[in-house]
Amino acid sequence: MADNADNSFDVVILGGGSGGYACALRAAQLGLRVAMVEKDKLGGTCLHRGCIPTKALLHAAEVADEAREGNSIGVKTTLDGIDMSAVNSYKDGVVAGLYKGLQGLIKSAGITMFEGEGRLVATDAVQVNETRVTGKHVVLGTGSYARTLPGLDLGGRVMTSDQALTLNDVPRSVVVIGGSVIGCEFASVWRSFGADVTIVEALPHLVPLEDQVLSKQLERAFRKRKIDFLLKSRFSELSQDDDGVTVTLEGGKTVTAEMCLVAVGRGASSSDLGFESQGVHVDRGWVTTDERLRTNIPTIFAIGDLVPGLQLAHRGFAHGIFVAEEIADQKPMPVVDINIPRVTYCDPEVASVGLTEEQARTKYGDVDTFEYNLTGNGRSKILGTAGVVKLVREKDGPIVGVHMIGSRMGEQVGEASLIVNWEAYPEDVAQFVHAHPTQTEALGEAALALAGKPLHVHA
Ligand SMILES: Cc1cc2nc3c(=O)[nH]c(=O)nc-3n(C[C@H](O)[C@H](O)[C@H](O)COP(=O)(O)OP(=O)(O)OC[C@H]3O[C@@H](n4cnc5c(N)ncnc54)[C@H](O)[C@@H]3O)c2cc1C
Repeated sequence: MADNADNSFDVVILGGGSGGYACALRAAQLGLRVAMVEKDKLGGTCLHRGCIPTKALLHAAEVADEAREGNSIGVKTTLDGIDMSAVNSYKDGVVAGLYKGLQGLIKSAGITMFEGEGRLVATDAVQVNETRVTGKHVVLGTGSYARTLPGLDLGGRVMTSDQALTLNDVPRSVVVIGGSVIGCEFASVWRSFGADVTIVEALPHLVPLEDQVLSKQLERAFRKRKIDFLLKSRFSELSQDDDGVTVTLEGGKTVTAEMCLVAVGRGASSSDLGFESQGVHVDRGWVTTDERLRTNIPTIFAIGDLVPGLQLAHRGFAHGIFVAEEIADQKPMPVVDINIPRVTYCDPEVASVGLTEEQARTKYGDVDTFEYNLTGNGRSKILGTAGVVKLVREKDGPIVGVHMIGSRMGEQVGEASLIVNWEAYPEDVAQFVHAHPTQTEALGEAALALAGKPLHVHA
């Protein structure tokens, strides 16, 4: 709790999630006096209700699939079942360990924590319970919440990701409304745990923001895994009783299941926090900023999910670090959404960075692309995964987009991100030697092909 007699600081951060705590740590490193206000748990959505617990479930799902499939490669295994309370203990243990570590980091950095719900009460002050905390700069990082649709009331058998992470049993069947990142990740977990899953998506494809090649490959893989999905299908209404839920789609088709997950996106957590009354510009809940993350009030910044754009923890980290350095007058480079890597951790994993082919054509007119199929990649063959690595380059120019699907592809997004952010040419990447047999070779092979010297590919 507060140790500063007059409760005045260089920086007051509202919200201790990915964006907020990254900002606090960097600002403290830079010698600023920092206060952070958190009403729930330090670490926010990512640590407690997002990235980390979902990825723990996805790892348990992967182990379940491996147990199921062991016999196909001569390892005698059977899957006896899923003990959800043990899975939850494992998941909660991972979260608890990271939470403890983060609390230690914040404490040793000398950051002053204020516990409670904060409210912006002046352009330089946040009120927390009875305490007024003032700052030369205020950083808003209150994050986001799971949205629902009109007519889709939460409660009972209808849940968001928050409740889905705390289920004590594996549902027999689930209808997932929304086929983007969160919907596909939960669909993948539950299918691996043995549930029947149907995804309902209003747009023409699953993971609709990705390059179409990834959406189509994911749809093929989900079909093979017997995950049902209905595309171009809009939710109309839902009823629930003791047996389950019935979802009616526009056009009259119905889907029944034991539970319903609503995964239709996240809205900004900004209502009734004093932002608008202190003159901060808010657009449909989002706090708008310039590229330097400054709001219309010069001393107030906004970061993370609260700022319109990609809702990703590492974007929040990058925003937080950027704002701390901006306040310390270090003139950092702005964080550009399109160059932030994106991963959907379902099976198979979807990973990308930069422009889709369609976006690149709109921006540059002429582009070259190459799709390397993982059937030619030794490590992928050993793992039994199908997939693709696609590169998009500006005509005779740098690689502006990398799009990958297949088991473990998320681990390759680091190299993909370096390629796009350093504006590498395929000829540059082709010079790098990729270890054999690894899945990273797929990126190397795609670059070799695009540089006009394909190796394990029919010319
Ligand atoms: C199911 C799920 C899975 C996800 N998986 C991934 C993933 O794999 N990778 C990835 O990059 N991203 C993932 N995300 C997104 C990621 O969690 C968010 O992008 C990230 O947490 C945003 O950070 P933030 O700091 O902006 O907000 P948050 O993490 O939401 O933090 C905001 C904090 O502010 C606090 N707060 C709000 N209002 C107040 C107030 N008035 N006073 C005091 N405190 C307040 C909240 O309690 C919270 O701790 C996932 C999200 C979900 C829901």
